[in-house]
Amino acid sequence: MLARMVLRSRLFAVLLGLSLLACGAGDRPPALRAIAAVTAPPSSVTAPIDPAPPAPAPGAEVAIGPDLRAEDAERVLFLATDLRTDAVRRVCPASLSTEPRIRCLLALRYEDEPPSRELALTLYSETGSLAGLLPEETSEDGRGGKVHLLPARPIGANREQLAWILDAFRGYRRFLTELAALGPVTFRDRPVDLRFFYSTSKQAPSAFAVQRNLGYNLYGVVNISAEAVRDTLFHEVFHLNDGWSARALAPIHARIVARCGKKSACLAPYSPTETMMDGVYYAFAGRGAAREYAAELALRYYRESREILEGKPLSTLPFKCGPAENREAWRRIAREFFGGVDPVPECPPGS
Ligand SMILES: [Zn+2]
Repeated sequence: MLARMVLRSRLFAVLLGLSLLACGAGDRPPALRAIAAVTAPPSSVTAPIDPAPPAPAPGAEVAIGPDLRAEDAERVLFLATDLRTDAVRRVCPASLSTEPRIRCLLALRYEDEPPSRELALTLYSETGSLAGLLPEETSEDGRGGKVHLLPARPIGANREQLAWILDAFRGYRRFLTELAALGPVTFRDRPVDLRFFYSTSKQAPSAFAVQRNLGYNLYGVVNISAEAVRDTLFHEVFHLNDGWSARALAPIHARIVARCGKKSACLAPYSPTETMMDGVYYAFAGRGAAREYAAELALRYYRESREILEGKPLSTLPFKCGPAENREAWRRIAREFFGGVDPVPECPPGS
């Protein structure tokens, strides 16, 4: 059945056998595949001077006061630079109110790249999100090795990534607004902060979710087009919403894994997306258990529902029209996050 599907967006990754997302709420970058070394460090990198203090506890926007939010922005934007706090505050004083102070900080951070500055300011205006930097860190690569992550900015040749991200979030907003007209949607469509980085040795992880932050690799193997970035970020934003899947989807996920193990032919009808890692469908590949299955399911819900709401024919067979587990998982995720709305037409009899 799935063989007839028109696979899109991240298909290239399947064809190339490359690893994909590294993600999961609270994860550090998980299992990565060995990938050809990335090119020379981008010119956009700013070398850290201070030993990186811990990333600010980001907490939900609602849980953070105005002044704390501005100070948080100061760290997210300038943590990995040689500018000291007092130098930053001579330009963007702490006496400013929150929004002007954050806009000042963004303008200062991207002062040397006016087109990126405009995109970063627009992203903040429209979503409240910051185009920040990931502190330098060395993380486990999930295979007993290490991956070294360094801060970078979306400037120069990487500016396009910021445009794709902005476009993705605009798309989520349109989609969720349309859904919200049909039911009580609880899914939140944006992170507090984007933390840009690159990896010295691999094009992975492409992205990961931690608390209210999204780490984003400017050289990520899947971050190569507006459509791919839209899919990648929706998966990650789902993780930011998810405190549910380990309880609600784990039994379904476990049943499928017990039936199929890691055999692709068996898993194919159950996999919400075409994405694979190490030759195994990503939803069933790693230690993320039901979390990754849920995030891929959310992405499938987004793809299919968006097409229907845009008046387009589905480019795939409806996921819910597959095995019984698919229908149940689809119903549960729609009910939990999307107000029970299911724009996809009913399955034909006997499907
Ligand atoms: Zn994930």
